[in-house]
Amino acid sequence: MEVDSRDVEQRAYTGLLPEWSEVESLVEAAHRRYEADASGVVADYIPVLAQANPDWFAVSVVETNGEAHCAGDADVEFSIQSISKAFVYALVCEAYGHDVVADRIGVNNTGLPFNSVIAIELNDGHPMNPMVNAGAIATTALIPGLTPDEQWEHIASGLSAFAGRPLQVDETVYRSEAETNHRNRAIARLLESYGRIALDPLEVVDVYTRQCSLRVTAKDLAVMGATLADGGVNPVTGERVVSAGVCRDTLAILAANGAYERSGEWLFEIGLPGKSGVAGGLITVAPGKAGIGTFSPPLDVAGNSVRGQRATAYLSRVLGLNIFASHAHTLAARGRGQA
Ligand code: GLU
Repeated sequence: MEVDSRDVEQRAYTGLLPEWSEVESLVEAAHRRYEADASGVVADYIPVLAQANPDWFAVSVVETNGEAHCAGDADVEFSIQSISKAFVYALVCEAYGHDVVADRIGVNNTGLPFNSVIAIELNDGHPMNPMVNAGAIATTALIPGLTPDEQWEHIASGLSAFAGRPLQVDETVYRSEAETNHRNRAIARLLESYGRIALDPLEVVDVYTRQCSLRVTAKDLAVMGATLADGGVNPVTGERVVSAGVCRDTLAILAANGAYERSGEWLFEIGLPGKSGVAGGLITVAPGKAGIGTFSPPLDVAGNSVRGQRATAYLSRVLGLNIFASHAHTLAARGRGQA
């Protein structure tokens, strides 16, 4: 994974964020630190994504008390892409519950790329992982609604409630992907052949393509992440979007599967649930504390934003966010004069 572990002091995990002004200056520092880093390649398999400015870079943190910190291009809109999978999954969990969704969709990393067809064949048609395309398309098929329009309405209003504002489809991105998404259509047909999709597979792919085309900013992602960090209540609007149990399930899925086939490296370096998308967005959740949204189009080979990963790794260390770090250990070490 292309994170940067340059000599950054690791703050002890405390369960609390530092005070507002310190978070603010660390968000600005995260942006400054990686602004000039031009590594990675902008996605072009969806033709219009290739037009993104590789210099765009935004970092945003929204705390569970609703306070926001932003640096860089935090108002630039981009398509949410795969990050939508996390929130559609949460909406489906809210509708069906823990056991049904775990059984029908699965929770395990396939270890294969996000658009893998082989992964479906290897697992007897079970989609396995809701954060890759097969599992995400199967998840979208479960969204409540009698027609594709009703399902779309459920998704658009649900994701807007997570963001705290009405999200709109980027029609150019939608058309560009709809004209070229032959592989996703093949995946949906294959799932149908295994009896995993009961609806018209092409209509399901169309709804999935629309959900991926919703426009967000890095700040929107931070609010959406803060809602998952806040037990399902949007800390800016005060609206309950999903239950606390659904947040817990969704974050477990993100920890295991959020960074494509590099999810293990992500968790090892950053220690937080997260999800990236091919337009360059990245969302990370520090449970009980904050959501982090970043945006920068150049990606690593697995499809994760390079600047986004580096800035998030930095923030995880300096804000003390790693969920595997032990506060008790730090106190004990301090007692022995070692901290
Ligand atoms: N809409 C994209 C696709 O299905 C999402 C991919 C991603 O962000 O990983 O190919």
